[in-house]
This record gives sequence, structure tokens and C-alpha cells, in this order.
Amino acid sequence: MKVQTHRFLCLYLCLNYLQSHEAHRCHGARPPPNLEFTLKPKKKKNTQQSESVLGTPCPPCPELEWRPCVGQHIGAERMMVCSNKSQFSCENLCGNPLPCGNHYCTKTCHPLGNQSSTNQSLRSEACEDCSLSCQKERKPKCQHHCPRRCHPGDCPPCKVLVKRSCHCGAMVHAFECIYYNGLSSKDQEIARSCGGPCHRKMPNCTHLCPETCHPGECPNPNKCGKKVTVRCKCQTLKKEWLCQDVQAAHNRAGSHPSDIPKNQFGVGLIPCNSDCKSKVQVVESELQLRKSRVTEVKEPDNEKSVPKRRKRRERVVESNEPTILQKIISRTKQVLLFIFFLVILVAATHYGYKGLLQLNDWMNKVDEQRQRSSRIR
Ligand SMILES: [Zn+2]
Ligand SMILES: [Zn+2]
Ligand SMILES: [Zn+2]
Ligand SMILES: [Zn+2]
Ligand SMILES: [Zn+2]
Ligand SMILES: [Zn+2]
Ligand SMILES: [Zn+2]
Ligand SMILES: [Zn+2]
Repeated sequence: MKVQTHRFLCLYLCLNYLQSHEAHRCHGARPPPNLEFTLKPKKKKNTQQSESVLGTPCPPCPELEWRPCVGQHIGAERMMVCSNKSQFSCENLCGNPLPCGNHYCTKTCHPLGNQSSTNQSLRSEACEDCSLSCQKERKPKCQHHCPRRCHPGDCPPCKVLVKRSCHCGAMVHAFECIYYNGLSSKDQEIARSCGGPCHRKMPNCTHLCPETCHPGECPNPNKCGKKVTVRCKCQTLKKEWLCQDVQAAHNRAGSHPSDIPKNQFGVGLIPCNSDCKSKVQVVESELQLRKSRVTEVKEPDNEKSVPKRRKRRERVVESNEPTILQKIISRTKQVLLFIFFLVILVAATHYGYKGLLQLNDWMNKVDEQRQRSSRIR
């Protein structure tokens, strides 16, 4: 009876305490695991303790327990007295997964925000913010980086504009990356066509490709259906052929159609005939006639049609008449000048020669004088 009331009392007093101590009981009667092992003095102690506490507040609990760090790290628990409520942080990094879902907190051990009610007294501290830009690989894969900051889940579809010219080069498309990347290579080629005529120059002739804008080289370069005027060698006979026939004819003649200059394409493919020769002769004779007429007709034509010019010409002729006299005068002047220079030349040589002789004589005299004077000495 006595024990029962004691237990009742204890439980009543320490309800809160017991709730937080499921691992052990701070005091009160404990069912002995082994009657023989429980020694008498211990029993006494227990009874003494319980007796002293009966009806009064509980003393601080002396039991030891393993207590986790504020960051709840495994293996970082410390043995602490139950009544000591102090908290501690270990030396580990927090390591809590961040809201971005890709990284872990690198702060040193700190109380977490969402801890159990036992640690409510501790101020929770938020984990660090992930400030990195998204480093995920896009799906479908592309070379553009995700514009968002580090985030959980899949990246948004890539809306970067990708520029691609059409096959014929007439225009440049701007596709959204997600759309263009999602297409198969065949569909990409279809999407790149501008839908207009190809209009690239055919490799064998001067004509433009009639196909709609297409990838790769223009098909059937030797099947060009454009009309070409074919001429004989003297270029008098004309005929209309299909370009493909012209190409074939040039091939048969031994020259590749792409090597033929533009103005020679289709020339000489039809033979000259008698018509052609007589025409040529007519043409030649006509040309000669024209030439002769032109020379005959020119002067009277000019006089009639351009009287002003004639007047000018006459003036020029008038002004030319005194110039003949002037010419005669200038010629005579030239002749006189020539004679004058000739006389000077002759005089100069004559006197120069004389001077040289005199100089020679004088030098001889001086020499003789020297010789005499040396003999006297
Ligand atoms: Zn810790
Ligand atoms: Zn992150
Ligand atoms: Zn943290
Ligand atoms: Zn992209
Ligand atoms: Zn992303
Ligand atoms: Zn095109
Ligand atoms: Zn083409
Ligand atoms: Zn052609």
C-alpha cells in the first residue's frame, strides 16, 4: 500500500519529466530485474531517496545519458548528466540537404529548423542559401546553360533562339532551341527550307536551280530544262535547244559545259550552211559599202549640218596662212643661229690652238732660263 501511494505521488508530480525521459525514470520504484542482484544497501538508498522526496519536488536527475549534437550528427553524441540541459554543436559540417535539392549545407554543426519538440528552447538556424547557377545538363541536351539559379527538378525548356540559314541562303531562320533540338536531322532539314525556289547557279550552265530550297547539291545538273539559243560558228544561224541538249552536244564536242565561257555557250553547235555563207558575203559587202559611203558622205554632210564648225575651221585656216611665213622666218633664224655657232666654234679652236702654242713656247723659255741659272751657279 505504502509503495503504491508513493508511486502514485511521484507520477503525479513528474508527469512532464517522465514524458521526456522514455529511456529511464528519474526516481521512484523500479521493478528489480533480478531480486538477488539488487543489493540491500541499494534498496535502502532507493527507499531513502524516495522517502526523502516524498511529497516534495524532484532533485536534479543524476543519471547519465547519450545526448546528440544540435545538428543531430550520428556518432557525435556525448555522455551527459540527464539534468544538465546544455546543448552542444559538434565539429562536423551541417551536411543537411539544401532546398535546391542538389547541394548540402556547409555550415558547421548548427541547430536545425525542423527539430523535434524537445529542442524548441534552442534557436533554430537556417541552413545556407545555395547561390550557384543551375549546373544541370539540359534535356534534350544542348549547349545553352539553364538561366535559373540552382533548383530542384528538371530545367525549363530551352528557349534560346538558334539561327540557321536556309539551304539556298536566301534567308536565316530563328528557331527556339527546344523546338529545333527536338527534331530529327531529317525534319531539321525540312524546317530549314525557305520554301522558295532554290535559285542557286547550276554547276554546268548559267541557269538557276528550279527546285524549291533543298539541302545538298542541286539535283540533276545535266538535266537543265531551260531554253538556250544555239548558233553556228559565224553566229548567223540560230536555233532554240534545251540546255541539257546543249550540254550533251558540248560534251560530245570534247569540252565540259562548265568550262565554256558564258558568251560561247551553245555557239558552233549547228553547222554553217550555204545560206549562212551567202549571208556572210552579203553582210561583208554591205559593211564595205557602208564604209565607202560613210567616207564619201561625211564631209558634205558635215558642212550642211554643222555650218558653225565650218566657219571655225575657216578661221583656223585663215589664221594658219601667216604661220607659213613665220615658219620660213624661223627656219632662216635657225640656219643663221647654226652658222653663228659654227663661226664661234672655229674661232675658239683657232685661238685655243694658238694659245696652246704660245703657252708651250713660254714654258720652254722658262725651262731654258732655269738651266742657264743652274749652270751659272
Ligand atoms: Zn553536430
Ligand atoms: Zn544548389
Ligand atoms: Zn545547415
Ligand atoms: Zn538550348
Ligand atoms: Zn536548371
Ligand atoms: Zn532557301
Ligand atoms: Zn538547287
Ligand atoms: Zn541550264
